[in-house]
Amino acid sequence: MDMIDPFGRTISYLRVSVTDRCDFRCTYCMAEDMTFLPKKDLLSLEELDRLCTVFIEKGVKKLRLTGGEPLVRKNIMHLVHQLSRHLDSGALEELTLTTNGSQLSRFAAELADCGVKRINVSLDTLDAEKFHQITRWGNLRKVMEGIDAAQKAGLKIKLNAVALRDFNDAEIPELMRWAHGRGMDLTLIETMPMGEIEADRTDQYLPLSILRASLERQFTLADIPYKTGGPARYAHVAETGGRLGFITPMTHNFCESCNRVRLTCTGTLYMCLGQEDAADLRAPLRASEGNELLDAAIDEAIGRKPKGHDFIIDRRTSRPSVSRHMSVTGG
Ligand code: SAM
Repeated sequence: MDMIDPFGRTISYLRVSVTDRCDFRCTYCMAEDMTFLPKKDLLSLEELDRLCTVFIEKGVKKLRLTGGEPLVRKNIMHLVHQLSRHLDSGALEELTLTTNGSQLSRFAAELADCGVKRINVSLDTLDAEKFHQITRWGNLRKVMEGIDAAQKAGLKIKLNAVALRDFNDAEIPELMRWAHGRGMDLTLIETMPMGEIEADRTDQYLPLSILRASLERQFTLADIPYKTGGPARYAHVAETGGRLGFITPMTHNFCESCNRVRLTCTGTLYMCLGQEDAADLRAPLRASEGNELLDAAIDEAIGRKPKGHDFIIDRRTSRPSVSRHMSVTGG
């Protein structure tokens, strides 16, 4: 039986945050001094596999591993190997991940061997100094080596860049030319008010409608119906021959076509990235060796998937719309 929510949307896409830890501290994502979950609270890789398998049996066709940084979870490739059996059986259409790229040179070839075809790499700037500034701990050279290794292994890459006012807005044309020149799509993302950070989000927030208008003074953008199963809307760029995606949770949320739910590394299911409501799947997972309790808990959760989110960023609203950081549920 497919999972269908109260608004008639079929849920076919699961994002799994395998760890809340990360080797970067991007200023718009995390506070510098983050408290992470105690390791004992994490689901084991076997438990994550069991949960993912139940979702696949219930109609999930696309599974994305995220975090935190998914490639810093100990033995993560064991989980990827396990999950790849669902690609082999045809039950799962796509297994993919979102990564900051720092560990890709170690794992790219093995990911490709497991049947991963495409990955998203987050990269907000090509300037090594600014990269260090925005990620606090990151090293651009390592990410570039990771991208090289991934392309060499045959993985298709989509770059994701969060558009940040007065930080990378002027650099987007260069980032786009670079990405398209290397055969990668580039998707721009609006910053979302998730979790307390040191910076003021009002200062960082750049509506993509404004950025797009400015890009259109230099480039010819034509909207295209291309879809990858996520929330991005794409345009073809005549001058580069590449695709530019827009993820606009703030200015246009596209919740009406949402097909996703998100599982955290503690077994909490969020039915919407932008809402606090969640369902605990760890208790039913651990209460029985059979999957009946889990199945019922998932059905109950899907039955209360909300219509959409309502993020607000303005000077009157100092608190984030959602208290958890993006690293809890991942992108
Ligand atoms: N570590 C991996 C990575 O860097 O891609 C996966 C997790 S990271 C939380 C996923 C994506 O969320 C990244 O592209 C990151 O830039 C983005 N992100 C983090 N915080 C965000 C926020 N508050 N608003 C919008 N995007 C955010």
